[in-house]
Amino acid sequence: MPSSTEVFAVGIEAVNSRIADIQSRMIAMQTQQVTKPTSAATTTSASTATGATFATALADAMGTTQSSAGTAKSYSLNSKGIPTELAQYGNGRIPSNALEKVGNTNHKLWAPAAESLTKMMADAKKDGVTIGITDSYRSYDEQVDVARRKGLYSQGGLAAKPGTSEHGWGMATDLDLNGKALTWMRANGEKYGFDENVPRESWHWAYKPKSA
Ligand SMILES: [Zn+2]
Repeated sequence: MPSSTEVFAVGIEAVNSRIADIQSRMIAMQTQQVTKPTSAATTTSASTATGATFATALADAMGTTQSSAGTAKSYSLNSKGIPTELAQYGNGRIPSNALEKVGNTNHKLWAPAAESLTKMMADAKKDGVTIGITDSYRSYDEQVDVARRKGLYSQGGLAAKPGTSEHGWGMATDLDLNGKALTWMRANGEKYGFDENVPRESWHWAYKPKSA
């Protein structure tokens, strides 16, 4: 009878060989894409499809070891400061499952922002400070609605031009802060990557990770 350690090792080997298989197929697909003369639009959709295929295949291969796949995920911002893996969707057009929930709320943000906000709210609570969330990711249609209700910045209002809001990338949150909580945020928000970056909007905090 094999020991449980051996069974585990065999399991990892199987996963590794499955990943190697997927990677070689990926390379083959990418090579096909490069050699195929396609229009820009076709290339974009082809690479999106390839990404999805890879993600699905990887998830299948990893099976129950999904948590280790999660750990391996890395996040980055592109040259425009937009999360690399969300840029393909467009501002305000990010599918719900590409974002992450903030703690046990129904609010969603770009995953690193959601995780940092969750931790910040928990740490504030330890200091006796309650931080509430009034808004987070905002779809394009919701941005149109906010602009209609609050007016555009360019016209003295309080809303970004639809399709340009930091909320549309899951990169900003509007917080419900009493005086004590606002003082706490101004002293501590930066440690968690949150920046009070809009004049006249002490509730609006954008996520600006330092290392990304
Ligand atoms: Zn805001």
